[in-house]
Amino acid sequence: MKHQVLDKTFVPYLTPAEIEAAIKRMGADISRDYAGKDPLFIAILNGSFMFASDLFKEISIPAEISFIKLASYKGTESTGNVVTAIGLERDLFQREVIIIEDIVDTGKTLSAFLPQLLHQQPASLKICSLLHKKEATTHPVAIDYLGFEIPNLFVVGYGLDYNGFGRNLNQIMQIEA
Ligand code: 5GP
Repeated sequence: MKHQVLDKTFVPYLTPAEIEAAIKRMGADISRDYAGKDPLFIAILNGSFMFASDLFKEISIPAEISFIKLASYKGTESTGNVVTAIGLERDLFQREVIIIEDIVDTGKTLSAFLPQLLHQQPASLKICSLLHKKEATTHPVAIDYLGFEIPNLFVVGYGLDYNGFGRNLNQIMQIEA
């Protein structure tokens, strides 16, 4: 069924069952790969709150989770876009860190933010993203755990918003062509 969010119309794209199956797969993969390593998940708000919550329930090994917000602002020409993390109070030194993102689009946000995390010298740093728009990526980031490759079309639902609305949808919907 079509769904209206503010002035735009969206059509179904990923069902709750498809999302659930992907998250179970990712949770099992991570739990297997990180057995004995006590990983620290860092979920990037706001968009990833629903995904992070469901994914974390599928983690069957001891693990921690922390939530941050990224604020980006224009730096100088030489520094490019600057991204600051709000709420990152954990010490990442020698931790096995897994970033939880809702969607990697151009890759700009993560490619600006990852060097800051690496500066803290974690034991490892991996990316887990529910969605990836490969065609839109201008700043390639290696996604270690991925739910779905999607076309370069705007999506909402399951935590993702359009101007603040649509996050409460239990499925992912694509903007009507
Ligand atoms: P990037 O820096 O990779 O271009 O931007 C990633 C961020 O842009 C995501 O975390 C998300 O907040 C936002 N974003 C990119 N594409 C979409 C989309 O199709 N729908 C929504 N709701 N947000 C998007």
